[in-house]
Amino acid sequence: MPWSLRIGRIAGTDIKVHITFLLLLGFFLVAGGAAAALLLLAVFLCVLLHEFGHIAMARRFGVRTPDVILLPIGGVARLERMPEEPRQEFLIALAGPLVTLGLAVAFYVILAARGTPPALVGELFQAGATPVDEMYRINVLLLLFNLLPAFPMDGGRVLRALLASRLGLARATRIAASVGQMMAFALGFWALSQGLILLLLVAFFVFIGASGEAQAVETRMAGRGLFVRDVMVTDFKSLPFSATLNDAAELLVASEQREFPVLTFDGGVAGMLSRDDLVRGLARGGPTALARDAMAGSVALVPTDLPFERAIEVLMGSRIPALPVVENGQLVGMLTRDNITDLVLVRRAVSEK
Ligand SMILES: [Zn+2]
Repeated sequence: MPWSLRIGRIAGTDIKVHITFLLLLGFFLVAGGAAAALLLLAVFLCVLLHEFGHIAMARRFGVRTPDVILLPIGGVARLERMPEEPRQEFLIALAGPLVTLGLAVAFYVILAARGTPPALVGELFQAGATPVDEMYRINVLLLLFNLLPAFPMDGGRVLRALLASRLGLARATRIAASVGQMMAFALGFWALSQGLILLLLVAFFVFIGASGEAQAVETRMAGRGLFVRDVMVTDFKSLPFSATLNDAAELLVASEQREFPVLTFDGGVAGMLSRDDLVRGLARGGPTALARDAMAGSVALVPTDLPFERAIEVLMGSRIPALPVVENGQLVGMLTRDNITDLVLVRRAVSEK
């Protein structure tokens, strides 16, 4: 996500904060003084612990988490891939709220030990008397909010996982996304009627999150059971090792292809020359410069027998929108973002027929 700063790394996961979160911290500091800012930092820590609940559970199922981003509306742990089974998603989604529940219980116990136990849920919308009261209240609110059955909240994932074990992932996601959007509408209307602008913003994020999730799953489902060889582009041009940028420019103009594999002398892949590489190379070295000097050299090679779902992850994780497909060390095709989009469109049209 742009505009986020990396502030540290714990157990292989980068911790990032979004710039708007820092603005919020500044606002608290100015409006409420050091005590308010400290309280916000304490909440931030609770949210981080919640996210690490998800991260630790995901790791148990072999799913790594490259980063977690803290936004003013909460944290987002970006898992490297979706867990395979609904049961795993269910447990990963539940692990965060369980941490928050644990924190709420801990703060409750502290307050009870002091002889001032808070009402369990009665005074949730009034500011707490002490910082510990306030932390208890905020964690209970976070817990309830996270369990709303709407994407991208944990409750939405729990709902999807429960539905998926009976209905399959695609239908479960569609239903969970619709439920989430209806909830977002209801929440938005209520926020508007109460003049709660921040909550209105949250409702908006929920609405966007629901459709984004549905789309990502549709892409995955479109290619289920397929391998790279079934979806790769086979009609394309490549450049020999000795090709100049002028050769590449002629190919670029003559076709709709934007990325060109550059071959080694024995038919392997030396790298990929993108249109941007080409333009940059022309500006630097002119048309007689070699394509291989302007290309990206260390690109991921995709084997033909890689499952489509894995291939999407490789492609999305790479900087360039097309990757060479190889078999026995020889270039046999290309995997591009465009042809994945096409596949999804075709599959959707067929399934709606
Ligand atoms: Zn969560």
